[in-house]
Amino acid sequence: MPTKYVVILGSMMSGLGKGVVTSSILRLLDFYDHDALPIKFDGYLNYDCGTMNPYRHGEVFVLDDRSEVDMDFGIYERFANRSLTGDLSITGGKLFGSVIAKERKGEYLGEDVQIIPHLTNEAISMIEAVERTRKPDVIVIEVGGTVGDIENSYFIEAVRQLALKHQTVFINLTYAPALEVVGEQKTKPAQVGYRLLLQAGVRPDFVICRSREKLNPKARAKLALFANISEDRVVDDSDAGTIYSLPLHFMEQDFDLKLLSVLGLSSKPNNAKIAKWKEKVEKVLSPKTEVSIGIVGKYTELIDSYASIKEALVHAGAATNSRVNLNWIESENLEKGNADSLLSGLDGILVPGGFGNRGIEGMINGIRYARENKVPYLGICLGMQLMAVEYARNVAGLEDSNSTEFEKDAKNKIIHLLPSQRGVDKKGGTMRLGLWECLLSSDSVSKKLYGTDKIGERHRHRYEFNNSYCDKLKEKGLRIAGTTPDGKLVEFIEWKDSFGIATQAHPELRSRLEAPAPLFVGFVAASLAAKNQKK
Ligand code: GLN
Repeated sequence: MPTKYVVILGSMMSGLGKGVVTSSILRLLDFYDHDALPIKFDGYLNYDCGTMNPYRHGEVFVLDDRSEVDMDFGIYERFANRSLTGDLSITGGKLFGSVIAKERKGEYLGEDVQIIPHLTNEAISMIEAVERTRKPDVIVIEVGGTVGDIENSYFIEAVRQLALKHQTVFINLTYAPALEVVGEQKTKPAQVGYRLLLQAGVRPDFVICRSREKLNPKARAKLALFANISEDRVVDDSDAGTIYSLPLHFMEQDFDLKLLSVLGLSSKPNNAKIAKWKEKVEKVLSPKTEVSIGIVGKYTELIDSYASIKEALVHAGAATNSRVNLNWIESENLEKGNADSLLSGLDGILVPGGFGNRGIEGMINGIRYARENKVPYLGICLGMQLMAVEYARNVAGLEDSNSTEFEKDAKNKIIHLLPSQRGVDKKGGTMRLGLWECLLSSDSVSKKLYGTDKIGERHRHRYEFNNSYCDKLKEKGLRIAGTTPDGKLVEFIEWKDSFGIATQAHPELRSRLEAPAPLFVGFVAASLAAKNQKK
């Protein structure tokens, strides 16, 4: 059967949750055993996300194959429970780059190269390459940005043309604001959005409407009328307790069956998959207990920059039947020797990944507090590097210990540039990226948590533990809990006196609701135990 297409377009404004809608559709298609792959288009002219500031754009997500992609890929993977690849990310940068490279080669000799047809054809051929190489049943395309933007206009033209060749269902995600909680839901802005979409030559087959309260019948009727569709093609996406319930909310409205019917796909459900998802969502919505975790980071004002950490903790909460309450602690605020007042009351402390000088000493203070007070600690990437620095300074007595990222001439360079990074001067896609194997030591807590000693996790870093300090820190009680299979790079370290684990990897990037990251589950379980001990 030829691949079918679903295209999600957002109107009115960004932030409506196109990623969650796209992911929910992937989840629904999998409930019926249809192989569905997402493609995300992003209009920016960066080649990929790797060179963007997470404080502005949200987290940079990394795939197994080393691609640095938009954080929406994290949502897709967490819902679809499958690992995706970089070819599914199409950016303005990739498209323009590819067209210009072809022009230089002379592939368009004699032609004046234009947005239509050259750029649009390039977009279509990138999409069709996914169809050709993977042959999925359905490709779900999320168009980044909002209808009416200049940045995505040529891509919308490309999907309009795609629909002339392939069976394509268009879905418009819109929003019905209400002035107060109980106020009337307004549809005028959504109607303006439709007009822009129709101007671009796209008629929606379904409208999904975000709203605070459930969509009321009057608003639904108007949304249907002006979109030229029947009322049962308007789907409610009102606020819910968790994003993970959206596929089930769609099913309550038979959106799954309607979509399958329009696509001409079988509607035989895989009941085991549906039951498993329901059980997990139930755990997220009604946990038995709660636990308080502090995240000491530098971008805590924009929680999107730690999206995967946050979700990995939701997954770990579902696995331990607990609600994980997150306390975002700006690390700079921990630099005044006030760890006690800011951190007491937490059941666990996590230091996530990060770059640059700001707030580093505050993170080290937070780690010291966790170690000295036996508060469970989880360190991710930078959080591992700083756990090593803290140990070197305060346990091994190696004064002036630091990472050369922060202090080039530190006396004790506990963390230094990876050998493979020396001489790298280009910034795009040049870090140690993607899935790398690691061997966990037999006496490690990490091995117990993973249930195996051979694991693979994703990475994104330039600096690394300096092996010349291995023996000294081991002597002082630090456990080297995991290395690369060749033994050359330290990947996991642990404290021995209390729960403290850190890894150079980013296990949060592979955490899924249905397959939570073992390290996060272990950390939340240890935090729960610490909380119960306090009682
Ligand atoms: N800045 C550190 C490095 O480049 C840590 C990176 C991270 O936490 N992702 O090695």
